[in-house]
Amino acid sequence: LYNVLQELRGNIRVYCRIRPIISSSEKSCIEYIGNDGSLMVFDAYKPQNTHKTFQFNKVFGPTTTQGEVYKETQALIRSVMDGYNVCIFAYGQTGAGKTYTMCGPSSRSSEEMGINHMALNDLFQISCTREDIKYEIHVQMVEIYNEQLSRLLINCNGTLEIRNCSGNGGLSIPNARMQIVQSTSDVLNLMNWGDKNRAFGSTAMNHRSSRSHSVLTVHVHGKDISGNTIRSCLHLVDLAGSERVDKSEAMGDRLKEAQHINKSLSCLGDVIMALAQKNSHIPYRNSKLTQLLQNSLGGHAKMLMFAHVSPEADSYGETISTLKFAQRASTV
Ligand code: ADP
Ligand code: MG
Repeated sequence: LYNVLQELRGNIRVYCRIRPIISSSEKSCIEYIGNDGSLMVFDAYKPQNTHKTFQFNKVFGPTTTQGEVYKETQALIRSVMDGYNVCIFAYGQTGAGKTYTMCGPSSRSSEEMGINHMALNDLFQISCTREDIKYEIHVQMVEIYNEQLSRLLINCNGTLEIRNCSGNGGLSIPNARMQIVQSTSDVLNLMNWGDKNRAFGSTAMNHRSSRSHSVLTVHVHGKDISGNTIRSCLHLVDLAGSERVDKSEAMGDRLKEAQHINKSLSCLGDVIMALAQKNSHIPYRNSKLTQLLQNSLGGHAKMLMFAHVSPEADSYGETISTLKFAQRASTV
């Protein structure tokens, strides 16, 4: 029944999340948040005639807790255990709360765990309690920086490239070793292990993580008593910041990063549009990100995009552009 309900609602969902204002002296550009997924924003410096309304599947206001967000995501995540491929994206400008939603705050406290953590707990829980199916769970973590796969947080040998693979689910990066895991703490240990192996200082690290896409993939393999198998995967994607970089200021490496990010985010938008319009050609091959996720975008796969916005008046321009991108995906 769950899947029937999801099917009726379509395979692409868009949630908007507004983070709290960080400095209390800041003015907000958010006018109204409706229970029905509507949202009104305005330019606090030019309030006349700048009100714009957007409509999403859900809008989470600044006081929404991590648990409330997870509750609206849980059914989708659980469907991975029934064989569905699921992609969850965090989209938005740097500082809007993408990493907070996916991973929680940098100082981890159990109440504020992000979707990654709660999803893993949930999947391991299901895998332990179901006696009719025996599950195996593997994880991979990949970063895409300047259109290159890199800094795999989990053991890898040789160079990384994406290969075309037939069949359902699974990344096809032959040299990226997949790691079998039994519990959420196994995964967190692996991620910490990966962190230690990075050759970046913390400032460089912050910069790099906001300029790259990071993809945590959970592969699920299940087998029931009569030998039927399911294979599926859950991709949890923390996208690079969508902000526009001032062309007159960005030079060299910064400009190159910005161009790669623009290109890959617009490719993602094109793929979503093409899927929504049921085009015969879906332009997966135009970016590494869409290539990587190809098997989990389209078909019976389910997708959820979190559009993150900062509420401050100064972010109005970026907020509008994030909401427009997300609205384009949700009206399909
Ligand atoms: P992004 O990953 O989009 O660049 P972050 O997730 O790093 O943004 O968020 C920027 C800052 O705002 C961080 O200090 C984070 O802890 C805080 N923050 C973001 N979203 C929330 C929220 N919903 N509640 C409380 N603090 C938040
Ligand atoms: Mg981040």
